[in-house]
Amino acid sequence: MSFNDLSASKLEKPVNDTRPHFKRILLKLSGEALTGDQSFGIDPSVLKTMVSEVSDIHEQGVEVGIVIGGGNIFRGLQSEKLGVTRVSGDQMGMLATVINAIALGDAFKNIGVASRVMSALDIHGVVEPFVRQKAVHYLSGKHVVIFAAGTGNPYFTTDTAATLRALEIDAQVLMKATNVDGVFDADPKLTVSARPFSFLTHEEVLERNLRVMDLTAISLAREHGLPILVFDLGKTGNIRKAVSGQQIGTLITGEKS
Ligand code: UDP
Repeated sequence: MSFNDLSASKLEKPVNDTRPHFKRILLKLSGEALTGDQSFGIDPSVLKTMVSEVSDIHEQGVEVGIVIGGGNIFRGLQSEKLGVTRVSGDQMGMLATVINAIALGDAFKNIGVASRVMSALDIHGVVEPFVRQKAVHYLSGKHVVIFAAGTGNPYFTTDTAATLRALEIDAQVLMKATNVDGVFDADPKLTVSARPFSFLTHEEVLERNLRVMDLTAISLAREHGLPILVFDLGKTGNIRKAVSGQQIGTLITGEKS
């Protein structure tokens, strides 16, 4: 299946067909999700569950790249409170993603899944630098590749990094894991009547100002026709259903502009 061929109708398959629908995906995990019930940092049980869910689709032959956030440790927006510049704050945020990536990489290794951490920031002796061709080589060699340090630049987010890496590795879909079942017309945690969307276009996300990803990320995805699937990774088996083409969460699609 060609990357540009993907449309909402083509993503749907019979419910009992569980073969993987994708060869290569980019999964965006937020740092915040790693916190679990704690107020800060990494909850070991959440880490274990995440890794086990991902390894399930990896075993089925899906090549998985992961961009991990850092919001469970530090976000650039907190810089003012701390009395540091925004650029320093963003650098701290990017380093936070490296901490998460190292934890994730080891968690995969602990369950026997080969993994690599590649960083957009040079941190010699700790993680290897991101090189696109190498990343693709690792993915083809059945390593889960974890992309750390976002884009390597301040003023960006890991959502933008996820879009960028998805395009670079030629992923067929960017799967954005959230803690709710897709994109809603209002915040489902605040509005009981909030309704989920099954399908959206990138254009609609922008027009309706739906806060799925930041504007830079969604604009980049729209420009290159990158499909985004927003789904709840917290529900056991959801990622497996998603890669087997069952309708899970919200699928955002659109033609290349
Ligand atoms: N960040 C950055 N450039 C990037 C990606 C991330 O400066 O390309 C910084 C930014 O300060 C951000 C922090 O890293 O707040 C953590 O990333 P993010 O907020 O996207 O993590 P998440 O919300 O997914 O946990």
